[in-house]
Amino acid sequence: MSERTISSPFRDTLAEITERCRPGDEGANADYIGGLAAVDPALYATAAITPDGDLYAFGDADHEFTIQSMSKPLVYGLAIEELGLAAVLRRVGVEPSGDSFNSISLSPGGRPVNPMINAGALAVHGLLHDRILDCSAADPDELVLDGLSRLAGRRLTVDEELFADEAATGYRNLAIANLLRSAGTIEGNPRHVYEGYCRQCSIRVTVRDLAMIGATLAAGGIHPATGERVLRAETVQWVLSVMSTCGMYDSAGSWMNTVGIPAKSGVSGGILGVIPGQLAIVAFSPRLDEVGTSVRGARFFRTASAELGLHMMRITGRPTGALRNRAVVDFDDDGVRDTTLLRLYGDIDFTSYESIDREVIYDAERHRSLFLDLVEVRSIGAVAAAHIHRLLDRISGEVRVFVHDPAELLEHDRHPQVTWVDAATVREYRSTRSS
Ligand code: GLN
Repeated sequence: MSERTISSPFRDTLAEITERCRPGDEGANADYIGGLAAVDPALYATAAITPDGDLYAFGDADHEFTIQSMSKPLVYGLAIEELGLAAVLRRVGVEPSGDSFNSISLSPGGRPVNPMINAGALAVHGLLHDRILDCSAADPDELVLDGLSRLAGRRLTVDEELFADEAATGYRNLAIANLLRSAGTIEGNPRHVYEGYCRQCSIRVTVRDLAMIGATLAAGGIHPATGERVLRAETVQWVLSVMSTCGMYDSAGSWMNTVGIPAKSGVSGGILGVIPGQLAIVAFSPRLDEVGTSVRGARFFRTASAELGLHMMRITGRPTGALRNRAVVDFDDDGVRDTTLLRLYGDIDFTSYESIDREVIYDAERHRSLFLDLVEVRSIGAVAAAHIHRLLDRISGEVRVFVHDPAELLEHDRHPQVTWVDAATVREYRSTRSS
């Protein structure tokens, strides 16, 4: 096993964007919850993960902060699982309100307009409370903590101090809980519901946890590491839909236009973004803008979206593809299986490139030669091509590299150390192997 590590272009790109978005001290910590005002405003972390991939995390990636409103779509998902969709929709709508997160946005019948604003999130939490107290001895707060822990793939904990701070001073949220009770939207004791909601907001996470949670959503409810199905695919569809329409409150429209990634912000400074089937992307930095979104975090999202082509509404000819198969073979016929054959296919964009990046770096670090077969590749997007070139630059001095690229999708003369093999060589190899 090699001691040497070759840095991955995918990782480097995310690290570079993270650093480029760091400068600046606009905005201010939330100060209406005492504990949040005291957090170091210079903290900054980002993370990303594909549903089948490795976790990439940068900056203060091990710093724990409270999940706050990023818990709302998750608890909404847990409530749909527990009570069924119809029961939840009867009490909470799915219309963007265009109002701020703490507005008293109830329809005349007392039904909050969506589950992302505090009124809706309190109602969702209340429904779970009522249901649990109704039918079992289980503790509803425990159900929430357990559900979020399963989404993250590790046991999460509550910041008791911050919880006590918020529970002691959240008069407005307490008022909303009382309104919900008076309208019959929730049935239990409004103070218990309010305190349960504050506990839910005080669950501690790192950007790594949020990335895992996001990857579970991006994969339709199956945790990428534990393999557990935490939410059904239909539930995840509702969760991601409300994130995309209501997750950013009164800036949901401009967020979808400029970033184009379903996301949920929290007043602790976190932003959880999920591109269905593709990628979870997360940022954390405590200074907020006037709608309660992390300034630095939003800058990271805007930049990453623009430069990596992550906007959901950008039509790119639906890229699908990357790795068809991987095998360790004796390509140069010297009796040793020391070459990794990676056969790629289809349309390769930035996110599908990630699996190539991972495989190539893994094998190069183990001193295996590489044979990259691009014969079935139809196109390589500009960002992915730039990364493949950087990958070849990095490994072609370290290990032997053979590339079969009959359509010349890559610039062959940029890489003098690469052996560009032709169809005849590949045929010869295949025939000796099958004989
Ligand atoms: N606990 C916070 C509140 O209810 C959550 C708000 C948020 O993160 N936007 O005020």
